[in-house]
Amino acid sequence: MKLILLGAPGAGKGTVAKLLTELDGSVQISTGDILRGAVQAGSDLGKQAEAFMNAGDLVPDELIMGIMEKRLQEPDCAKGFLLDGFPRTIPQAEQLKTLLEKINIKLDMAVNIDVPKDVILDRLSTRRTCSNGDCQAIYNVKSNPPKQEGKCDKCGSPVIQREDETKEAISHRLKTYDEKTAPLIGFYDKENMLLTVSATSSDDVINAIKGKLAS
Ligand code: AMP
Repeated sequence: MKLILLGAPGAGKGTVAKLLTELDGSVQISTGDILRGAVQAGSDLGKQAEAFMNAGDLVPDELIMGIMEKRLQEPDCAKGFLLDGFPRTIPQAEQLKTLLEKINIKLDMAVNIDVPKDVILDRLSTRRTCSNGDCQAIYNVKSNPPKQEGKCDKCGSPVIQREDETKEAISHRLKTYDEKTAPLIGFYDKENMLLTVSATSSDDVINAIKGKLAS
């Protein structure tokens, strides 16, 4: 399957994407994971992105499009891909449309995961992430803590609160979402590609997507 996952930070895009990869071998492409990996590796991309990310601001469109133009043409994308956190602005969506036409790829749909704001705020402030850039497993201190406190179940690295998940950065990220990313819902609706799922359970989101793909 070839999907865009839309939704505010904390809506569950990453969790849904990981579950969907198990269905048919589609790959999850998270621009946030790619950027955090680059910051940790200290690469040029990481150096250019870090200050924007820590402030909860979006990284410039040119940087993101440079990453995605290459990533979408890698061989593992042939089976399908789940775009998690991209596109995030109208210019990114327009440039993605042009790019996909150029490389002859057709998307199935854009899924808008719609979750109430109070749930989002609670999830983001209790979320913890594995600090290993190659792992980035996600935990939640309330609903899904690591077996050993502060240590990743998968790779043993420290599990931390992301720098952009402090109270101030969260509220800035949500404001940025409302201003820059929420307009994509209208964009994909006009393209006749939108599926909105109002659900807090990832299983409900997966079932809605499966149902739509089968119809
Ligand atoms: P995420 O893990 O998807 O919440 O992304 C973390 C941060 O990475 C965001 O707050 C942005 O600073 C940056 N980022 C991720 N994806 C994008 C994108 N498509 N466009 C611009 N910035 C992005």
